[in-house]
Amino acid sequence: MEKSVDRYDVIVVGTGPGGGIVARDLTRQGKRVLIIERGDYQPTRGTISQMVSRGWVPGVQMPLTTQVKPVVRGVTTGGTSMLYTATAHEPPYEILEKYGIDIRDEIAGLRAELPIAPIRDELMSPAAQLFMKSARELGYDCKKLDKFIYQDKCLRDCDSCIKGCPNGAKWNSRYLVDEALHNGATMINHAKVKRVITEGGRAVGVEYKSGVKNISLHADIVVIAAGGIGSPVILRNSGFSGVGEKLCMDPILVVFGQVKGLGGSGRAVPMMTGFHLKEEGIMFADLHIPKVLKQFFDVHALNLGKVGQFEDVIPIMVKIRDDLSGKIRNGGLLKKDISPADKIKFNNGEGIAKDILRQAGAHKTYTSQIVAAHPGASVKIGEHVDKNLKTRFDGLYVCDCSVYPEALGLPPSLMLLGLGKRLAKHLATNNTHGKVDDISLLETAG
Ligand SMILES: Cc1cc2nc3c(=O)[nH]c(=O)nc-3n(C[C@H](O)[C@H](O)[C@H](O)COP(=O)(O)OP(=O)(O)OC[C@H]3O[C@@H](n4cnc5c(N)ncnc54)[C@H](O)[C@@H]3O)c2cc1C
Repeated sequence: MEKSVDRYDVIVVGTGPGGGIVARDLTRQGKRVLIIERGDYQPTRGTISQMVSRGWVPGVQMPLTTQVKPVVRGVTTGGTSMLYTATAHEPPYEILEKYGIDIRDEIAGLRAELPIAPIRDELMSPAAQLFMKSARELGYDCKKLDKFIYQDKCLRDCDSCIKGCPNGAKWNSRYLVDEALHNGATMINHAKVKRVITEGGRAVGVEYKSGVKNISLHADIVVIAAGGIGSPVILRNSGFSGVGEKLCMDPILVVFGQVKGLGGSGRAVPMMTGFHLKEEGIMFADLHIPKVLKQFFDVHALNLGKVGQFEDVIPIMVKIRDDLSGKIRNGGLLKKDISPADKIKFNNGEGIAKDILRQAGAHKTYTSQIVAAHPGASVKIGEHVDKNLKTRFDGLYVCDCSVYPEALGLPPSLMLLGLGKRLAKHLATNNTHGKVDDISLLETAG
């Protein structure tokens, strides 16, 4: 094993929204930050092959579950935000407040800083407009959703969001990483962190694998932000038990309906409009996806006769707040069954989506298989980390999807950015050698 002589103030592992904002904000405070990222730092080409290589390779970025539903996560600088659909959903403040966390100020700051706004009318597709109109006619409060998009760079009839957006229109957490690097941070790519190094109950660094070498680097503080699956695996390797024993995934299905004469190209920003049934735990949105991905969905669901349909199709996403019925097995494999309660939500949501499609003039509808994109709640606030996102080890924090205290069933990135801002403020201004706050930690650390 190589030992570096370098010592940093903070090591941040992972560069999704959770890690990106912590790294960026700490460099603004003059901290010496080292970022360690498993993936590459290649420029975004916006091709299907790059999208697949960043997030859709089964068993690598896309861990398979017991029901073999794809769980997509991005492994590249910027994390899953390089593949996301850029919806900026207001955080569920009431859930965080139960744990003594208020991020309203941080969210207000982010709204002032980032390009967050509903999509302009001229970028709207006929499918999204008709979805919103039909949902409203049925009494649903369907509205334009806020997007993380520089709209002056966004193109009509473009399907690049999910592929990565080579036009610079989609905001993602690589912008944060780039600013952190500009401010003096160091980044190591192609480096997979295996474990946190601890001494006497305190985190002092990490060990990562680069090629065939194991390398350890040291810092006063370690922030693990490797995502809802990556972080519990690192913590387990570091001696924590209990993490990753539960897992939510915000699973989705897509209901499609063909409306003859709809017009448009079928290519547009996904999730321009939508609505949330809070009590039921179901979110709906239009969901334009690239043609080849639609074809994958059709083949996956054995809707083989629909593979040729695209331009005149309205795709409606049904996302549910699922039970914490998942589990990360040793080695990173996932177990995740759709529980009976989840099935009821999906049936309910699919029925509503079909009603909307019929209202829009679709005669026949068809439904995709279930896929998942937000693995989380595997290192929960109130159980494994305290309200400051601190583990029971001094100097060791977690900041990503894994810390949700419960399943959200909502796009989480704005909330993660708020939590990360709050953590960076805490790390820059407080004595981090103190005790864990307010909770009885259930996991044991070795
Ligand atoms: C198709 C799709 C659409 C989505 N749309 C939206 C949306 O519209 N709005 C929204 O809010 N959210 C959306 N999401 C979800 C959102 O992108 C994620 O929830 C968010 O990126 C999670 O941030 P994170 O910081 O937890 O982790 P991630 O963004 O997953 O980042 C984790 C990082 O850690 C790195 N890493 C993992 N393991 C290691 C290791 N061992 N060592 C070093 N580095 C490691 C990864 O390479 C990655 O860079 C979408 C997701 C997908 C897949």
